Amino acid sequence: MEERLKEAPCGFISIDESGYILEINNRFLTWMGYEEDAVTGKHIETFLTRVNRMFIHTYFFPTIQLHNSVEEFYINLTNSTGESIPVLLNARRYVREGVPVIDCMFIQMKQRIDYELELRSLQKTTEKAYQDREEAFVQLEKVYAEIARKQSEILEMNNELLNLSNTDKLTNISNRRFFTEELERHIDRYTKEGIVFSLLMVDIDHFKKVNDTYGHLAGDSVLVQLAGLLTQEVGSDNRVARLGGEEFVIILPETNAEEALKLAVKLNKAVENANWEIINRLTVSIGASTFSENDTDVTIVNCADQALYWAKENGRNCSIHYKEIG
Ligand code: GH3
Ligand code: MG
Ligand code: MG
Repeated sequence: MEERLKEAPCGFISIDESGYILEINNRFLTWMGYEEDAVTGKHIETFLTRVNRMFIHTYFFPTIQLHNSVEEFYINLTNSTGESIPVLLNARRYVREGVPVIDCMFIQMKQRIDYELELRSLQKTTEKAYQDREEAFVQLEKVYAEIARKQSEILEMNNELLNLSNTDKLTNISNRRFFTEELERHIDRYTKEGIVFSLLMVDIDHFKKVNDTYGHLAGDSVLVQLAGLLTQEVGSDNRVARLGGEEFVIILPETNAEEALKLAVKLNKAVENANWEIINRLTVSIGASTFSENDTDVTIVNCADQALYWAKENGRNCSIHYKEIG
């Protein structure tokens, strides 16, 4: 064998058609851990596991007989200590001096396989990480959805609570608390933009008699009916509030004294002419006031109260504006 082939950086053996070794290079001997004399003349099976022996007879020899070559045949060799060495085998059959010879070239695959295994394990780890991340995202999305749901529930509850805290339980219209806030808003608008507004203080005449005659429950239902009537007459939501007892207050935005009094008189008539479910007749007295420069949230209410007092004093079932008595 030529010196270069003997020391070539790949395993090399020549075998005859039956598989017996004719020549062998140093690299192959080093891999296998044998001396040249010990293996020359031995069968190629010497270096193969049982499974690979079967393989070489069922695939390698028939293929080389048919095509005179075998390429990228992957097998495991076994060296003298029983260690398995994966190799890639390329072989060529030719006739030398009238005798067929098969030259076999081996490239070790061990490093490549280790590398592939490492790659595969890395791939698995990455896939797992991706899967975990996907699952975490799904979980996170669920948590976000839950938070959003809870937030809208809280908002809804807050709205309900706000409504409850602003609503009079019996009549279901606004209560004193809401009126106080509304009043502040209107004073603010007056201060900033000079937009005038008026108040009507409405008190049922001789309501005690209603209770005394028909009972407290009947009195309650009159209060409910009156709240509905006032709201309907005023014509917009949240303007009428129940201050307590049989006393109501109405905020009239962008309404001057004349207009306020006009509306008050209209309310007197509406109440007087209404059909009451339980009682025959009901009247209210109304005191009106209109916000002006020197007023505060206290004085505007006091003025309406005083006007109401005057209305009571002047025979009830009537309306008086504070400016007529002030
Ligand atoms: P005036 O014409 O001077 O206003 O006489 P009045 O009887 O309406 O006024 P008074 O202040 O003497 O009596 C008010 C009554 O309103 C006394 C009270 O029993 C009744 N009242 C207060 N709150 C309620 C309520 O929530 N339901 C019922 N049914 N009656 C109430
Ligand atoms: Mg009263
Ligand atoms: Mg009264």
